Amino acid sequence: MSAYEDLMAFQRQTEALAQVAGRLGWDQETVMPDGAAGQRAEEIGALESVLHARRTDPRLGEWLAAAVAPDAVGEAQLRQIRRSYARTMKIPARLAEEIARVTSLAQGVWAGCRAAEDVAGFLPTLSKVVELKREEGAALAAGADPYDALVDDYEPGMTGASIAAMFDAMRPRLVALRGRVLGAAAPHGIVGTFGRDDQLALTRELATVFGYDWTRGRVDLAVHPFSSGSGQDVRITTRVNEVDPFNCFYSTIHEVGHAAYEQGVDEAYLLTPIGQGASMGVHESQSRSYENQMGRSRAFTGWLYGRMREVFGDFGIADAEAFYRAVNRVHAGYIRTEADEVHYNLHVMMRFDLERALIRGELQVADLEGAWNDRFRADFGVAVDKPSNGMLQDVHWSCGLFGYFPTYTLGNVYAGCLTKALRADIPGLDGMMAQGDVSAATGWMREKLQRHGARYLPREVVAQACGFEPSEGPLLDYLEAKFGEIYGV
Ligand code: ZN
Repeated sequence: MSAYEDLMAFQRQTEALAQVAGRLGWDQETVMPDGAAGQRAEEIGALESVLHARRTDPRLGEWLAAAVAPDAVGEAQLRQIRRSYARTMKIPARLAEEIARVTSLAQGVWAGCRAAEDVAGFLPTLSKVVELKREEGAALAAGADPYDALVDDYEPGMTGASIAAMFDAMRPRLVALRGRVLGAAAPHGIVGTFGRDDQLALTRELATVFGYDWTRGRVDLAVHPFSSGSGQDVRITTRVNEVDPFNCFYSTIHEVGHAAYEQGVDEAYLLTPIGQGASMGVHESQSRSYENQMGRSRAFTGWLYGRMREVFGDFGIADAEAFYRAVNRVHAGYIRTEADEVHYNLHVMMRFDLERALIRGELQVADLEGAWNDRFRADFGVAVDKPSNGMLQDVHWSCGLFGYFPTYTLGNVYAGCLTKALRADIPGLDGMMAQGDVSAATGWMREKLQRHGARYLPREVVAQACGFEPSEGPLLDYLEAKFGEIYGV
């Protein structure tokens, strides 16, 4: 066998083991018995050490030096392996182990401190995590910007400066839109209770409508909705709130967007380095466009209104137009995950600036709460009332996920571009979506983007799908048109 074939055979087993590790995580969040937590931690730890040994195996270096790709797809495979190997080798084993140990404990500390509204109790742990991530960033950057090195892990090709330039261009238009919308009369919300079983039945129907392949997936309940796995086994979770069915419906459509991406990758790439989404940002472009640009469109909500009336009877909304406004209600709030389309990116931009300053050493952990609260008042016009509504609300930093937040907004930006392109390609889309048929849109995404997996770099695959270079313009145009019309501003 050639070096390339040896390398790909070795890599295929590594990919398979990584899928097994992911499925253990899925099991832990869904059906694992409570008493199994201790043993599970050891199982996952054992598997992770096998994976780490494979990812740092000296033969990888030798194969990579000798491998010749048979074609352009092979080149992309080698690019992915090279990139991951180079990153892994730059981080000392001691540092990798300490980050894993400290962040797994930090999540528990964070959860306890958030429940107790105890910032002071969380700061020593957060300081340790930030210190380790600064060290990791410095090891990866080799003299360049440590934050850029961390961003590159989630979004290859993007830097702190390129993200900052995009966000700076977005902020004034978003703040202005937010001001106009909040100054107008708010639409009515839905009222009543919505039975759990009925919500789950309609949620399954929505997953099917958005193209979820049930022969290679399943939906279970979990505390936090997520999508897990790739290729032939892509599972999602959802949750039910009996007074807020939109929570269940729209988080399911969101996760179906992630899952459809993984299910949609070309079968030929199964269990290879390019057999998965291109980046976190491109992933989020799928979930966000399924959830918002398709799921919260006037056309699709018209159909959903009819289905909800059939299932739940009267819930205080007079017609499809009022329902569209209720689904797209804009409200000021503290929590990112509950934010509407107008506020969401403002939450992300704030976290981006703060975490970038933390990693670059321009902001100290001791000053983070003050910096968070000042910035929140400036951007959102209200004072943070308690830490769980402020700097303790998200788990990311305790997990060491620095550089991850901006990918959420990047996903929205890409979703804006992709929607502009797909609407130009499919003029009759609204007529179909009004009948509950989104297959033309999801089929377009599969053909133009999803099937390529990580074959191309993130920006490259989006630009190819759209036929133009991605920028923030289409998203802002879409938001101003949609919410300007709903609110008459
Ligand atoms: Zn997502």
